Amino acid sequence: TSSRKFTEGVPLVVEDVPRRPAAERAAMLADPGFGRYFTDSMFVARYRAGEGWYDARLTAYAPLQLDPSTAALHYAQSIFEGLKAYAQPDGSVATFRPEANAARFARSARRLAMPPVPEDAFIAAVDALVDADRDWVPTGPDQTLYIRPYQLASEPFLGVRPASEYLFLVIASPAGAYFPRGVHPVSVYLSEDYIRAAPGGTGDVKCAGNYAASLLPQQEASALGCDQVVYLDAVEKKFIEELGGMNLFFVLGSGDDAELVTPELSGTLLPGITRDSLIELARTMGHTVTERRFSVDEWRQGVADGTVTETFACGTAAVITPVGQVKARTGDFVVGDGTPGPLTMKLRESLLDIQHGRVADTRGWLH
Ligand code: PMP
Repeated sequence: TSSRKFTEGVPLVVEDVPRRPAAERAAMLADPGFGRYFTDSMFVARYRAGEGWYDARLTAYAPLQLDPSTAALHYAQSIFEGLKAYAQPDGSVATFRPEANAARFARSARRLAMPPVPEDAFIAAVDALVDADRDWVPTGPDQTLYIRPYQLASEPFLGVRPASEYLFLVIASPAGAYFPRGVHPVSVYLSEDYIRAAPGGTGDVKCAGNYAASLLPQQEASALGCDQVVYLDAVEKKFIEELGGMNLFFVLGSGDDAELVTPELSGTLLPGITRDSLIELARTMGHTVTERRFSVDEWRQGVADGTVTETFACGTAAVITPVGQVKARTGDFVVGDGTPGPLTMKLRESLLDIQHGRVADTRGWLH
């Protein structure tokens, strides 16, 4: 028992959770990879129509028991978030802009006709898990604890309508450095057939189905030797939207005068929190950042005539990933010289320095 609360009138019960032996945990933290190992605890809360949220608890990480007719398993009424906790030099642990994830989670919930988790309750749940499992936050270079909040329709019912029962869970997984052998550009495949999201669809929220639909294009891109898929707008198939799990930036020009362009939030791409943070950091550095439509032609032409000097992808998992080779049915091209561009690396270091507490957090981004 504790005096913690999940949200108004809902206590947060903290159970005494069995801990994995320290040696076993240390072995996992030495080479965590991504999404392979999970911490000792998980957070679970339940929702029932008419009753609201109830039974919020931090409990032992364990399999869920679900009725075979559980609605989420049939109609994908299911959303998620991804954020990270970072070990700080003073021994504390901080999450990065969790209130932005809380707000996006609530927006995703509304789009999927789910009851939103109150934003303070989302943060309370994340805090409780990180607090209980803080010995799982790795301290190696660029290592983090990846946190996965998610919500699913748990009602056993096969009718197609919003469920009356939901689960909200938070689990956490230690994550190794994304580029353990140094940052190197990835190759991308320009998808001229498959689209990720259409106007009026669900492209601007984090629902499970978006990612299910991205697997086949990703598989085909892999078969062609590419790391990621670049999606285009659904209407004209001319404008760049984003990757399957990262937003994109284009650098025009070089040096102090370099400008950044990132596709505008058209309603069909996910408003990334890394994207938003980088816009702010780049502007503080004195660079012009424009959110606008950016076409494949402008990208290809710009690379050919030297206007577009760098391209990078960004997201919570990889922070910033330089893009090198671009493959497309309409012709391949290469951005840069095969090494990460200078502004790409400057922004990457600048964001990592804030997240890992190596510079002062003047914006209140660390929680
Ligand atoms: N686009 C998509 C489709 C994503 O899944 C993600 C990861 N959440 C992003 C962009 C990057 O978002 P963020 O910076 O908030 O991680």
